[in-house]
Amino acid sequence: MPDKPTLAFDNICTQTIKASWLNNNGVQLDVLRLDRLHPVVSGNKWFKLQFHIARLINQYSARTVATFGGAYSNHIIATAFACRMHGLPCVGFIRGEQPQQLSHTLTQARDYGMQLYFVSRNEYRNKTLLEQAFPDYYWIPEGGYSIAGAEGAATILQHVPSPETYTHLIAAVGTGTMLAGLVMAAIPGLQITGISALKGNTGAAHSVNALLPAHLHDCFSIDHRFHFGGYAKHPPELLDYMTRCWNDYALPLDMVYTAKAFFATEQLINEHTIAPGSRVLFIHSGGLQGNLSLAPGLLPF
Ligand SMILES: *Cc1c(COP(=O)(O)O)cnc(C)c1O
Repeated sequence: MPDKPTLAFDNICTQTIKASWLNNNGVQLDVLRLDRLHPVVSGNKWFKLQFHIARLINQYSARTVATFGGAYSNHIIATAFACRMHGLPCVGFIRGEQPQQLSHTLTQARDYGMQLYFVSRNEYRNKTLLEQAFPDYYWIPEGGYSIAGAEGAATILQHVPSPETYTHLIAAVGTGTMLAGLVMAAIPGLQITGISALKGNTGAAHSVNALLPAHLHDCFSIDHRFHFGGYAKHPPELLDYMTRCWNDYALPLDMVYTAKAFFATEQLINEHTIAPGSRVLFIHSGGLQGNLSLAPGLLPF
């Protein structure tokens, strides 16, 4: 039996990090623990889906949901879960040939009731063709990239007890949907920095702006230095860093997004890009289920 389909919003909390690199720079760092929402569907993906699901139920009388993703996609698992929660049928179009053995992510998505279709990398590139082939589905864009997704992510900040006390906000960037939502919800003056999990994704800022009204364009910055070799690349030094964060702060991080963004945060503080005296909120956007694709024993959590 898969996990009971409930989400623990009460478990979301802020964790204050204690470290010499913070003391030495006079910086306060709190982590918003969205990973505590659910052991599998942790983090930002549910937030990005919520308004799509509401729209589907209210306006489209519960059509079948369809979306895209890779074999380890946090978006696929979150979509499968959200649909199970609301009793909606759903279909996942998965990039690449069907493997001999399904990944943890896909096994769990299937257990939540998602029907999986494997499509070749070529077909996957032509997503509009797939969408046109199944016009009766309610299509959710890959990664939840959409204005409704950003508006959903904007509600993340409702889980922060005193958002007005922070000077800086840091979050990982994939499609940029979450960052757009954070910009929508932020109090003017808050400095928002996105850390790209992809290598050379020079279009990221444009993607964020495309989800925002004109008066919010460029009210954020994106740092491209911390991709660790590229999307989902996880060299030993990144895994060592994750082990240290677990041992030192009891902070579990995922290798695709949050570990890179947290490493970046430490660097930005040490190099005084974030000035001494600042109060920083780091968004732990979840994704821990992705670590299951690592060999057992590589991480202590
Ligand atoms: C998808 C994801 C992100 C990136 O969110 P975008 O809205 O695509 O930029 C960040 N962190 C985690 C854990 C994710 O799963």
